[in-house]
Amino acid sequence: MRIGIVGSGMVGSAAGYAIALLGGASEIVMVDHKPELARAQAEDIAHAVPFAHPCRLLAGDYAMLEDAVVVILACGVPQRPGESRLSLLGRNADVFREVIGQVRAVAPGAILLVASNPVDIMTEVTLTASGLAPGRVIGSGTILDTARFRTLIGEHLGIAAQSVHAHVLGEHGDSEVLVWSSARAGTETVAHFGTRIGQPLTEAARARIDDGVRRAAYRIIAGKGATWFGIGAGLARIVQAIRDDQRAVLSCSILTEAVGSVRNVALSLPRVIGREGVLTTLAPDLDAAEARALERSAEILRDAAKGVVG
Ligand code: ADP
Repeated sequence: MRIGIVGSGMVGSAAGYAIALLGGASEIVMVDHKPELARAQAEDIAHAVPFAHPCRLLAGDYAMLEDAVVVILACGVPQRPGESRLSLLGRNADVFREVIGQVRAVAPGAILLVASNPVDIMTEVTLTASGLAPGRVIGSGTILDTARFRTLIGEHLGIAAQSVHAHVLGEHGDSEVLVWSSARAGTETVAHFGTRIGQPLTEAARARIDDGVRRAAYRIIAGKGATWFGIGAGLARIVQAIRDDQRAVLSCSILTEAVGSVRNVALSLPRVIGREGVLTTLAPDLDAAEARALERSAEILRDAAKGVVG
């Protein structure tokens, strides 16, 4: 199965590396408007393949994306000194429109997996520019925030992150919503389990975990300039779910008809992902404060998308 990656910078190459190591594709094609960069990344990742799963690494132009099942969009331009967030967003939306036209021309059946930030807005841009059905344009959204949330709860409770069932929903960003009310350790609520084992999830413990999730990107960027490994693995996870028609439940962003009173906004909810993309969306159990916070997150995204999407 061929996977395309447009944008061979830190995120695109981390995605290629994670897909190669996890065995998510038989062929990975790296594209970039700097062809030498795409070639170098493909060659470097190819040297990891003998230690992992058989996979061909290629670099080239859009024509090589023909028949790709998934194309990851990890392209973008850096912020200019003094440039506003909105202006950067406009320039990145222009890059996306150009790229999507080229991808669609050669790989009309591909599911588009959006990685570039702000990912929820770029998912809407991609949906509009591609004309695809909403379930075939997937933003990585809060898949990574959800992984961070499950990890920190698991550490607090002394259980594996894989056994923590919890989601971060809404914007991939400051207004995201950590859903505590329905978070579970196995089948038991995390609150009950924590109290029972003498590790209660006190206000202070929750605040620490909240900060650990919500501020993670800021801390990593302060230390190394950008984040790429976590998101690369998250993208690879989505690719696996599509490739194997897993019907896995993952938090990711697609255009969503209604979130409270907000209509047609791309944000993250738990989605069932399989060979045709997002098959259905789960209605998460939220308490009143979480429902309000999710609606607020939707409003923030709705406002941010104005003037960019279209
Ligand atoms: P990130 O940390 O998000 O990966 P980078 O700047 O490392 O950011 O990567 C973005 C990549 O997108 C760069 O390699 C850049 O060359 C690429 N890119 C920018 N514009 C285009 C375009 N029009 N087509 C293809 N690739 C592009």
